[in-house]
Amino acid sequence: MPIAELTSLFSSAKVAYDIAKGISSLHVQVERDKAISELLKVLITVEEQALLSQEKTSSIIQEKDQLAKQLLEMDEWKITKNQYKLVEISSGSFVYAPNESYPFPNPVHWLCQNCLDNERKKSILQLQQKTPRGTDIYVCPSCKAPIKDRSHPNPIKPRIIRRLKW
Ligand SMILES: [Zn+2]
Repeated sequence: MPIAELTSLFSSAKVAYDIAKGISSLHVQVERDKAISELLKVLITVEEQALLSQEKTSSIIQEKDQLAKQLLEMDEWKITKNQYKLVEISSGSFVYAPNESYPFPNPVHWLCQNCLDNERKKSILQLQQKTPRGTDIYVCPSCKAPIKDRSHPNPIKPRIIRRLKW
């Protein structure tokens, strides 16, 4: 509960207490009625300040819960990010591959670098096509980025030229 609101609340409650305490010593009905009226005004102020403090306390608790949730997500994100490492699978093609320092995920897979770095999202690359030259083309199901793996090209077969015999 915020300290400023608490100070106002206690201060108003003290005023109400003092008025209530003094009412019994008043002997004239008009003065008693006036004191009771003043007491009711102060009690309404106390009630308003108590409600305000309750709202602020509720708001602070919600913020605290939100921050705790964000902290937990950051911790989980840090653990996930450490389980993978950035790898250049072939010239200009980057993926996040399992980090050898951690137990390998089963099945072993690659993650999209774009999604992991920019969206904090684990998106497993899917093999889309194998070309005759040995290039594997993966695609990210989230951002649709194509990733080419040219790390194991097929050798180019020489053309067979037949000579005609004379
Ligand atoms: Zn992606």
